[in-house]
Amino acid sequence: MNEQLAELRARLQEIDDLNAASALLNWDQTTYMPPGGAPARARQLATLGRLAHEKSIDPAIGRLLDALQPYADGLPYDHDDAALIRVARRGYERLTRVPTELVAKFYAHSAASYQVWTRARPDNDVGAVLPYLEHTLELSRQFADCFPGYAHIADPLIDFADYGMRAETVRALFAELRAELAPIAHAITAQPSADDSCLRQHFPESAQLAFGERIIRAFGYDFTHGRQDKTHHPFATKFSVGDVRITTRVKEHDLSEALFSTLHEAGHAMYEQGVDPAFEGTPLCSGTSAGVHESQSRLWENLVGRSRPFWEHYYPQIQAVFPDQLRSVPLETFYRAINKVQRSLIRTDADEVTYNLHVMLRFDLELALLEGSLAVKDLPEAWNARYSEDLGITPPDHRDGVLQDVHWFGGLIGGSFQGYTIGNILSAQFFDAARAAHPAIDAELARGEFATLHGWLREQIYRHGSKFTTSELVERVTGGPLTIQPYLSYLRRKYGELYTL
Ligand code: ZN
Repeated sequence: MNEQLAELRARLQEIDDLNAASALLNWDQTTYMPPGGAPARARQLATLGRLAHEKSIDPAIGRLLDALQPYADGLPYDHDDAALIRVARRGYERLTRVPTELVAKFYAHSAASYQVWTRARPDNDVGAVLPYLEHTLELSRQFADCFPGYAHIADPLIDFADYGMRAETVRALFAELRAELAPIAHAITAQPSADDSCLRQHFPESAQLAFGERIIRAFGYDFTHGRQDKTHHPFATKFSVGDVRITTRVKEHDLSEALFSTLHEAGHAMYEQGVDPAFEGTPLCSGTSAGVHESQSRLWENLVGRSRPFWEHYYPQIQAVFPDQLRSVPLETFYRAINKVQRSLIRTDADEVTYNLHVMLRFDLELALLEGSLAVKDLPEAWNARYSEDLGITPPDHRDGVLQDVHWFGGLIGGSFQGYTIGNILSAQFFDAARAAHPAIDAELARGEFATLHGWLREQIYRHGSKFTTSELVERVTGGPLTIQPYLSYLRRKYGELYTL
């Protein structure tokens, strides 16, 4: 048994090494690689991706998993070995259902589609990407059809990102949230908007980066196990538990851009830095789902980083860093500026109240495309129609409309967006659980102390990696199922104080 387990681990480690090498090449591509490296880099990534896929579907893994199943069945559910065999089997069964040719076709197509999108977006040339999107939709349907028996064609694709979730459950969850959220968003956006001009002064890049790093260091992001670099689209990436990196982008005339993206990505990265090192090299060694991952980034970015207690501590510090810009700006003005609610076009820049409306419309459009009730050629118009309907604003061009997110142009259609809103919902649910366990957390945030919160998250969530599914984790951590109530209470409390609700 020990021998078989060791062989399984060795095989999984090899796959993980190949994936980590791909991640490193990707990180380099988006940070330091000169443009001349692009053609070879695409090929190198395709080669590594193919090797990892071949190794992942090797029938020897299936035989090892079968041989180890009786051992796993004899263990408690939460035993590390039982979890390893369970999660490895889930991944193996999923990957072996998808023909290698389809994977290869998808890699080649998404690289080409991404290249076209990077030019089409600045050029506002939606016509250039639609034929690619048409093919992406076809491939997405073929992926879904590798998993017959689904209730909705999006189910297998949602399941990839948020295991255990289905179109039906997400739809119901979103309908429930939307019914409560839309009136709040409407009530606020009908009022005079907050003055955020204090954030739009000139803030030199190096001082912005240094201040963001000061905060995430205090949060508990470990710079001996990570680093931060600049990129166009911020992300976190992991090469091992000992090397989890983040990226950010700086706008010298927008103080919020680098600051909040740094807090956000540090939230993702601390989750990965906190996984039990014993899981290294196995499928257990990463966050359990898109939704839980996003709950960790949003918790640090918003529930901590945009809170009043947090800025009671940090505002004098940021004033000292930017005295000319902020000396005469009261804390209250700054706090209202960083929590300004408005009808906006861009999801990633959206405030906490309207953010989920951006997500839900993308989720609905994905389902409509997959179902065939919306044709690709009609997507740009459908997008604009939903923006005017849901957010009361019509994109003036496609650049800031349907072309704004990379997801559909560099990946599949289906499963890409629901995790963002599930993450927001869970961020409040987890944060409430942390404060219930440690009522001193609020006072600690106001003193710039994060060790209790970070320690609780590490113990309750981070260290488990993918050992538990989203619903198992939520049940264990909060004592109940996923619910929108903590999130709604949080929004009502916070924004009821800032605006008239
Ligand atoms: Zn995120």
